[in-house]
Amino acid sequence: MKSRVTKRAVTTRETVEPQADSEKRPATRRAGQNVKIRNILVPTDFSKSANTALKFALVFAEQFDAQVTLLYVVEVPVFRDFEAYPLALDGNSAIQQAKGHLERLKAEQGTAAERIKAVKATIGKPFREITSAARTMKQDLIIIATHGRTGLKRVFLGSTAEKVIRHASCPVLVVR
Ligand code: ADP
Repeated sequence: MKSRVTKRAVTTRETVEPQADSEKRPATRRAGQNVKIRNILVPTDFSKSANTALKFALVFAEQFDAQVTLLYVVEVPVFRDFEAYPLALDGNSAIQQAKGHLERLKAEQGTAAERIKAVKATIGKPFREITSAARTMKQDLIIIATHGRTGLKRVFLGSTAEKVIRHASCPVLVVR
């Protein structure tokens, strides 16, 4: 009985072919071999959570030698945020004011701001604008906060964050 077990074990060892390195690794790791993070899109609604995500993104960008694009989407109608960010109803001036807020946010980042190569403002539905900007500007990664100005902390993810994850064609890193 004992000798039969030993015999079978030896046979098994002899018939196993050595695997090539790439065959041993899981498919996800193989697929990740050529990943380069050069351009990171950071959408912001100027909330505390978005500021935290931006700070994280700037450290991340430094480590990966990547460039950050900051994006704010002006929602229409804008009355909900009227006091904090009194954006005019006229599209162009809303964009100009938003760009001013973005430049100020950039300046607040001190030396880390060197990683911010562009600030952009568009008008529309935030999740649509964010995912389409990521696609057209060929961004490698979106870094977004779990929550924003609505601040419904009891829900796991805000609606923009959730839709960006669902519709983005690039990886999304969610910061909480
Ligand atoms: P909440 O429902 O708590 O407001 P959201 O999903 O709207 O949460 O916000 C999550 C994150 O999505 C924000 O921190 C911000 O990074 C991004 N975001 C939300 N609205 C906008 C917007 N209008 N423009 C750019 N980014 C936005």
